[in-house]
Amino acid sequence: MTMPRAVEPHPWLRDSPGAILGLFRADTEPLTKADVVQRSGLSRTAVNARVNPLIDAGILRLAQSQSTTGGRPAERYELNRDWGVVLIADMGATAIRAAASDLRANILAERTERIDISAGPDVVLSRVELLFNGLLEETHRVAGDVVGIGLDVPGPVDHDRGRVVRPPIMTGWHDFDVPGRFSTTYAGPVLVEKDTNAMAFGEQRIVHHDTDDVVFVKLGTGVGTGMVIRGEIYRGADGAAGDIGHIPLVGTSELESAPVCRCGNRGCIEAYASGWAMVRDLDRPNRPVRTVDDVIRLAEARDHDALRAVRRSAEIVGTAVSDLVNIVNPRTIVVGGQLAAIEDGLIAGIREVVYRRSLPLATRDLEIVSSELGSRAGVYGLARLVIDEVLSAPRIDRIVARPNATVPAR
Ligand SMILES: [Zn+2]
Repeated sequence: MTMPRAVEPHPWLRDSPGAILGLFRADTEPLTKADVVQRSGLSRTAVNARVNPLIDAGILRLAQSQSTTGGRPAERYELNRDWGVVLIADMGATAIRAAASDLRANILAERTERIDISAGPDVVLSRVELLFNGLLEETHRVAGDVVGIGLDVPGPVDHDRGRVVRPPIMTGWHDFDVPGRFSTTYAGPVLVEKDTNAMAFGEQRIVHHDTDDVVFVKLGTGVGTGMVIRGEIYRGADGAAGDIGHIPLVGTSELESAPVCRCGNRGCIEAYASGWAMVRDLDRPNRPVRTVDDVIRLAEARDHDALRAVRRSAEIVGTAVSDLVNIVNPRTIVVGGQLAAIEDGLIAGIREVVYRRSLPLATRDLEIVSSELGSRAGVYGLARLVIDEVLSAPRIDRIVARPNATVPAR
């Protein structure tokens, strides 16, 4: 017979000031030191030794509203959301959405600009730098206030190295050192992410935080997916996980006659079901269709050809998504991107195919919904990712260990 052991606080909570900061991040209400004693299981002395350096570094601050229950009011502390600013650039094929965020992922300022991502990294990242300067000016901050940067791109990313790898539509970006471009101007981490991963993360953290397994399907100019598995972005061994857009739709024997894709191969799902494929198929001399917006307008005007193209796209994408459902068994599928806006069009069609083709166990509690964050999913996802990195326990511990670090202590 084994003796029951005394309940020990989780070792994670004992560790360090950085680990204790996690308590303040998890709670939206300010905490007293007594709250921290209670939640961590640490002694008052141990809590002081961990909380005081965070206060001295400006990472925690006195909350405006103080607790007044009984006797002398206890001082309550909260994460200082203004300790630093995070800069974000969500880059699509044709536009950049740039934003400045505080450390609670509140967007302080935002700017959008049309670009052509295939103009190459020098041109596009110069625009991003100008947008960042404008955002800092607008929020009355300077470069020294920036604690981290997040960028996403519509292409495959080697996350650990922060580099784009052989992107189908981003001429000149292959292996470009994106973090290097910003690390000379700004301190803190520079994260580079695939756009659909950032969108999946934003939707999971902000809208669907009651579930850990979310797949994001982006239907816009292209077709892409991002996955959050067990609460973290699932990138696979090399960062290529979940890219359904370039899975061949037809067998090898039919590839020769299949349409050419933007990636150079033939017969990819994108080459049949994406926004650009619909533009190609719907364009007529007497009725020009030039952009994905033109496709949406036609579908909403109940144009027969456009509706047929939408139905076909839903069938093809739905088939790929149902395979994904059988493999990763997500709880929630979020459909976003420009084309998701077509009323009763794509999402209803995808839902129908997925429920018909996927395993009953995988669809029992599955929900397929449209994106609530819409065109801001990427921005919010990047902000959360960068903040997680900036406020990670090891990074915070390094900062409080050297009080005169280059990071702002406001
Ligand atoms: Zn392709």
